[in-house]
Amino acid sequence: MYFLNSEEKKHLLKGYLPKSRKIHIDEDLRGWNWNQPPLAPIYDIKLPLYEIANKYCSTCRDVYLRKVENVKAKQNLDMILGVIFHEALVNFIIKAKRLIYINGIGKCNDVFEELKKVDFSPLDRRKDLISPEEMEDAKNKVNFIWNYEYGQVISRIQDVLSRQPYINEDSLISLALPVVVEQKLDGSFLGLSKYLSADAFTMSEPMVVDLKFGKKKDFHRLCTTGYALVMESVFEFPVNVGCIVYGNFKNNRLIIEKDFHIIDDELREWFIEERDERMHMVFEGIDPGLAEECYDTCPYYADCH
Ligand code: SF4
Repeated sequence: MYFLNSEEKKHLLKGYLPKSRKIHIDEDLRGWNWNQPPLAPIYDIKLPLYEIANKYCSTCRDVYLRKVENVKAKQNLDMILGVIFHEALVNFIIKAKRLIYINGIGKCNDVFEELKKVDFSPLDRRKDLISPEEMEDAKNKVNFIWNYEYGQVISRIQDVLSRQPYINEDSLISLALPVVVEQKLDGSFLGLSKYLSADAFTMSEPMVVDLKFGKKKDFHRLCTTGYALVMESVFEFPVNVGCIVYGNFKNNRLIIEKDFHIIDDELREWFIEERDERMHMVFEGIDPGLAEECYDTCPYYADCH
């Protein structure tokens, strides 16, 4: 799901990348300037990035309840499924890389055979959280994700092997699977947690990728923006492009849509504003009040109503 098809590649290479290199980004809004305003955190607290980037509750009362009142809420079904699908994808990519290293180039057919076996461990670990019917449905969906990835990755490996007769395992992985999943990052320069985990980082071009299962929301771009700022603060190179991969299941199919975007000044300012507001609320213990419209699957519904 993290790999681009030829059309997407064209859009990225001929559209977003050249545009992102031409566009002016205010130096003050580059992550490497984390030690001065407006990036320098105002309060001495650390927040996970999702507490800033998730705005499912319009007043962010969920953050207040978690961080100030210490209310623990059970995850709703969408959240549990999202974690299962994410984990399935991460397991697939790691398994593919591991099998290539273990088996070597000469035994790629063994890699392909072994990779066919779907790993259902993300479901097994959560079997007490969802009903048997939901479990069955989730199993089908994990199967879709796994098989989709299998097709993509096998064709990428075969393509590289057919063009590079003297390639070694390490180089094959870097060309066929040029992505780091669950990239761990220290966000403390920007007042964020030291243990952030970006869904994926593509190496062909510095691009942050975030995976979502569900409906598109404008605030999803806050997540890629936050990770881009953190990467700039840690590695000191520009990260100009983000991509949100939306996975949805329709008519027994996995439908994938990608939202490429330039991490421009507007998004950077929006992220910093949200971070400062959230920090102020948590530091001062201010209850922001109820949202105008509460969604009925909100894990805090019972606490708020
Ligand atoms: S119930 Fe409403 S106010 Fe409370 S956290 Fe959920 S969306 Fe926000």
